[in-house]
This record gives sequence, structure tokens and C-alpha cells, in this order.
Amino acid sequence: MAESRPATKPPAASRPLPTVAIVGRPNVGKSTLMNRILGRREAIVAEQPGITRDRKEMPARWQGREFTVVDTGGWLPQGAGGNASMDAKVSAQSEKSMAGADAVVMVVDSQAGITGDDEGVAQRLRGRAGPVLVAVNKVDDKAHENLVWEFARLGLGDPFPVSALHGRGVGDLLDAVMRALPDEAAEGLEAGAEPESDSAMVSVAIVGRPNAGKSTLFNRLIGDDRSVVHDQPGTTRDAIDTVVETELGPMRFVDTAGMRRRARIDQAAEYYSLLRALAAVDRADIALLVVDATVGVTHQDQRLAERVDAAGCPIVVLLNKWDLLGTEARAAIALDIERRLHFLGDAAVLRVSALSGKGVHRLLPELRGVIAEYRRRIPTQAVNRVLRDAQAAHPAPDGARVLYATQGATDPPTFTLFANRTLPRTYLRFLERRLREAFHLGSVPVKLRVRRRSG
Ligand code: GDP
Ligand code: GDP
Repeated sequence: MAESRPATKPPAASRPLPTVAIVGRPNVGKSTLMNRILGRREAIVAEQPGITRDRKEMPARWQGREFTVVDTGGWLPQGAGGNASMDAKVSAQSEKSMAGADAVVMVVDSQAGITGDDEGVAQRLRGRAGPVLVAVNKVDDKAHENLVWEFARLGLGDPFPVSALHGRGVGDLLDAVMRALPDEAAEGLEAGAEPESDSAMVSVAIVGRPNAGKSTLFNRLIGDDRSVVHDQPGTTRDAIDTVVETELGPMRFVDTAGMRRRARIDQAAEYYSLLRALAAVDRADIALLVVDATVGVTHQDQRLAERVDAAGCPIVVLLNKWDLLGTEARAAIALDIERRLHFLGDAAVLRVSALSGKGVHRLLPELRGVIAEYRRRIPTQAVNRVLRDAQAAHPAPDGARVLYATQGATDPPTFTLFANRTLPRTYLRFLERRLREAFHLGSVPVKLRVRRRSG
């Protein structure tokens, strides 16, 4: 008979999440980066000095993985120069959060170059056992990218160009951070591999131009409200998520503020709604792009789709208001899709009428399929077999070769290819196509990362 005794080990649920500390001298953009990682648009950025000085720990999520970000609030007092009295200036708190972190991101300012304070911080980090990544911030556009290499001198590995303000490069940085964290699979096994209900729940963002029919669709999906389980606060002050009971289990609709009641959004809000959509997509596993088929696929729709796709979020396209289209318009929109959304590849395109409900029943089965693909994990052997066959059939030019590969991450499927030299872009697309076909990855975005290895 089992007797209940106090557990000696903490239960899985109370085990701490991996922590990522963000460090760097003041004003390089640590808070901005933190907000970006948390998916917030409203800034905690300091207006007056002192405001970000406290250590902040916030829960975050990337590629379905949860972790804690710690903003150390700066190591040095504003205006300090040189690193002579570095030790004295390092706050005990920053030191502590750094020591306890599973990974450290050191932020520097591309436009300022390496300062004495940066050197001081780097010196401290070089002695650290765990992984350290250098984020070179304020690389707001391509033209600034060549400023990055200077920071390799810090001796902390290849720097990552980012723009915390615009989100540029932050995904790649986070991918690398995730790879640097202790192995999740091992952790899961140890903890009993019970998936947290929240991360197992699918998050869906409904995006599209104002008036495309997002609210109508959402109201259609939740039916008469009986299926709504609860509302949850989103990450911004006014973002409300709605959890809905569906035949696929509970599903979270992200940022549904204003969708429950038909909020009238005026056309001038287009830009704002784009920002809002992108923020929602940051937190979603999948995006439903609602297109007003009576207007056709506009340039705005295209821009939105590109940004969603670039964020690594799979898309299902809904051509809404299909009930209003005549035969000619129906033919025309097929061309629109080819012309403007070709980069989505095999993404599902559903013709629906949110108003009448026609075609909407196909949505959930479609989502189920895409999500399964998105979360697939493919055995390393199988990946390597496909790449070997592909390369045997079509070798890359100049003796370039993928030596081996692994699927480094899911959500979306991300493959790391170790190659003996740089592979041409077209060749990478060919390999991506082969992987897609072999593993039926259909419409989900697939990422390939190439690492150089001698061999
Ligand atoms: P912290 O002191 O390191 O936390 O720095 P903050 O996050 O408060 O940012 C300092 C200043 O740099 C603010 O004025 C930000 O708006 C600005 N900043 C942050 N990130 C970027 C960026 O990516 N590009 C540009 N141009 N400015 C940025
Ligand atoms: P949102 O701004 O994207 O949330 O768009 P709404 O859901 O408020 O819809 C804008 C307008 O389009 C409303 O007048 C809806 O009744 C109408 N509408 C939405 N879906 C359909 C549809 O499938 N067919 C027709 N005929 N009208 C629709």
C-alpha cells in the first residue's frame, strides 16, 4: 500500500524553467530586446534613468519552449568609463542572475562600437562556463550589417545582428539561444515528460486587413459562446485571448479583443492592425489569414503574409466573402494568389463565407493537419538518407557537400545542415524541396541552417 510521504524532489511542475540573462552596459537596448522577446509592443523602456534598474524576470516562449528572461538592468552606472574599477561597479544582483542563468545574451550597440565597458563585460563573460551569445543591437537595416563583425573581437563567438526595436534578427538569435539551453528532451524525461497543458494547446491568430471578416469568422467559430472556456489576458494591456473548446481540444485564439463584439475598425487603422497582427502571430502556432475575396489579394495582404511567413508561422489562407463572388471574380482571385502569395508554397487556401458559415467546417481539419506537420520530429537517420539520395542524384557545384544533418527544432521544422563549404541558395532550395516531399511537410515553413565543418 502506498503511503504518502513528502516528496524529496520537487514535482515536475515546480521545477524552474531555463533562464536566459540579458546583460550589457546601459543604453544598448536590453529592455527593448526583452520586450521584443516577450512579444510586447508597449515598451518598458526607461524614460527616466532608474526605471529599468531593477532586475526583471519574465516568462517567455519561443518555438513552443518556455523559459525565463532576466533583464539585469545594466551592469554599470550610466556614464562610467573604462573598466578599471569594473569589479566594484558590477552590481551583486546582475552578477547573481548571470551566475544562475542557463544562457547569457550580451547586448552591444552596433552604432557605438566596442566601448571600454563592453570590454569589461565581455571579459567577465569569457570566464563563464555556460553559453554566451552576443547580440549586436540597432542593426536596423541591411546596410548596418557590416558593423557586426567588429564585435567578434569580444571573443564570445559569432555575433548576431539584431534590431530589438524592429524585431530584425531576433528570431535567429532566439533559435540560437534555444539550441544553447540544456536539452529539453532530457529535461522532459527527467521530469516525467508530462507536457504542460498550456504549451500543448494550439494558439491561433486570425489576421487580415480591416473589414476582411475576421470578427465574423471568429464569431462563427465560437458559435453561440457555449464553446468559450475562458478569456485570458494576452501580453499587451488590451490583448484578450479566448480559449475555445473545439473538436481538436481547447484552442487559444490570440488577441481577440474587439472580435467578440463586432468592433468597427476604421480603415486608417490599417498600419496599427498590421502591428497588432504581427504581435499576435508572435504568440501563435498558426495564422489564419483572412482575405476579403471581393477586393482580391492586395499588396497589404501580401505584406502581412510575408511577415507572418518570415516569423516562421504557418498560414492557412481564407478567401472570405466567397458568397459575393461571380464566376469571373472567382477565376481572377486564383491568379491573384499565384502572383502575390506564391511564396507560401503549398499553404492551404480555403474558400469560405464567414457570414453564412459555408466552407468554415473545413477549417478545423485543415488546422489539425498543419499543426501535426509543424510539430513533427523526424529521425536523424531519415533526414540524412533523404539528403544523401538528393545529393547523389544532383551533387552541388564545386564539391560542396552536406556532410550530415539533424532536425534541430520543431515549430517550424528546422534542419541544421553541416556542410564542407557554402552551399548556393538554389541548391538549398532544392534540398528543402526534397525534405518537404519526403516528409510531407506540405505548407509549413521549413528552415535550413547551414554550419561549416571541415571534412
Ligand atoms: P537598456 O538601457 O540597455 O535597457 O536600453 P534600452 O532598451 O532602454 O534602449 C536604449 C535606447 O536605444 C532607447 O532609446 C531605445 O529606443 C534605443 N534602441 C533600442 N533598440 C534599438 C534598435 O534596435 N535600434 C535603434 N535604432 N534604437 C534602439
Ligand atoms: P474585420 O474588420 O476583419 O473583423 O471584419 P468584420 O468581421 O467586421 O466584417 C466586415 C464586414 O464584412 C461586415 O459587414 C461583415 O458582415 C461582412 N462579412 C464578413 N464575412 C462575410 C462573408 O463571408 N460574406 C459576406 N457577404 N459578408 C461578410
